[in-house]
Amino acid sequence: MTAAFLIRPTLAWLALPLAALALAPALDARQTQAPAPAPTRTVLVKAARLIDGRGGAPVADAGVLIRGDRIERVGPAAGMTADDVIDLGNATVLPGLIDLHTHLTDEVGTNWETNLLTTTPGRAAIYGAVNARTTLLAGFTTVRDMGPTWPYVDIDLRYAIDKGSIPGPRMQAAGNYVSATGGAGDARQFSIYVDVPIVRNLADGVDDVRKVVRTNLKNGADFIKILATGAVMSKGIPPGAQQYTDAELAVAVEEAARWGKFVASHAHGAEGIKASLRAGVRTIDHGSMLDEEGARLLKEKGAYFAPTLYVGHSILHDNQALNIPAHQVEREKAMQGTQEKAFRLALAHQLPIAFATDAGVFPHGDNAREFKVRVDLGQTPMAAIEGATRIAADAMGWADRVGTLQAGRFADLIAVDTDPLVDITALERVRFVMRGGVVHKGGAHTAAPGTRSPR
Ligand SMILES: [Zn+2]
Repeated sequence: MTAAFLIRPTLAWLALPLAALALAPALDARQTQAPAPAPTRTVLVKAARLIDGRGGAPVADAGVLIRGDRIERVGPAAGMTADDVIDLGNATVLPGLIDLHTHLTDEVGTNWETNLLTTTPGRAAIYGAVNARTTLLAGFTTVRDMGPTWPYVDIDLRYAIDKGSIPGPRMQAAGNYVSATGGAGDARQFSIYVDVPIVRNLADGVDDVRKVVRTNLKNGADFIKILATGAVMSKGIPPGAQQYTDAELAVAVEEAARWGKFVASHAHGAEGIKASLRAGVRTIDHGSMLDEEGARLLKEKGAYFAPTLYVGHSILHDNQALNIPAHQVEREKAMQGTQEKAFRLALAHQLPIAFATDAGVFPHGDNAREFKVRVDLGQTPMAAIEGATRIAADAMGWADRVGTLQAGRFADLIAVDTDPLVDITALERVRFVMRGGVVHKGGAHTAAPGTRSPR
């Protein structure tokens, strides 16, 4: 069906001065705004079905009552009243989706080794702004950015979004990869006589790793991304090989914890996965060769599994369009089947499986294609949705603000025309996006430029 979402009586509330949206308690040290004045207007979003992100049965004829940028009440719409009503008709309302693994500042179809030689951080910033908007309009209201080609451009992007200068998802940014020399994040894969601008992400040995972790956090990183194994999308040590020692991984976690931050581990090979878990990382990203022992360890340590399955398909099938070098396609081919096996193992062990994609390798905005791959491998649609809502929010340490439709959370919600529990690909066609009480998509209405909504 075509959803003509009815918005009435007016959208005047969209144009409310942002004073009304500046947020309550300071969310972190960088946000120093005063507490928000009491918001003046309420909005009721109504829809035939509501999935709140916590895995329970959908609510029929549901309403979400919003005051300012926060959810005030969720449940049957009957009896709820508000200053404005957005009636989404037969749609399904869900929490704004979360992707734990994006590269927002990457221009799709370019190669990072080439980018280091031929582009500037300015280009990455411009594409970052474009991609952030695309990602938001695709229904992803929160992302973790797993690192740019040009260090710290993602921190600048986050700044501009947080400030309300450009539309985009709430972001946690890595700032810079932490990689060993010759490892997955060593972009200088040229003759030793060729230098490119210093990326300053290489760290070898415990002291070096500690210093790079501190450098990233000093420069605004929200978490640490460490490359525990080789990668598909690079040269150097192969994806299956552990590139960091146990001691190096442990010091990264220890140092990040001192700053109150988590470590996300890029880990394909089984040994790198287990070493990361022993070290105490928060998420295992990719996790392509997860084995039985790794699955048990992940559960025991309370970590999160963040596989990226759709990207493998796009590397194998769309490599020409995506301009992916042959040696990287070969690396993906060598791992064919292992990621699916690891995912089934994670399902069998009932691991907390968070939604992650590696968007940037494939086009931004196609993030939701990951859902179908997961459901085809045996995950229930509801569990897949939980992975992109409650579980992903938990993994980020943001369960108190995003990921579920509950009183007190940010009013981040999306709607699709049909029931995603019947057809999960419905999530690839998001028709309505609200972030922090501001409508970014749905009808002809978009947020006014400069609209501010803190993370
Ligand atoms: Zn990645």
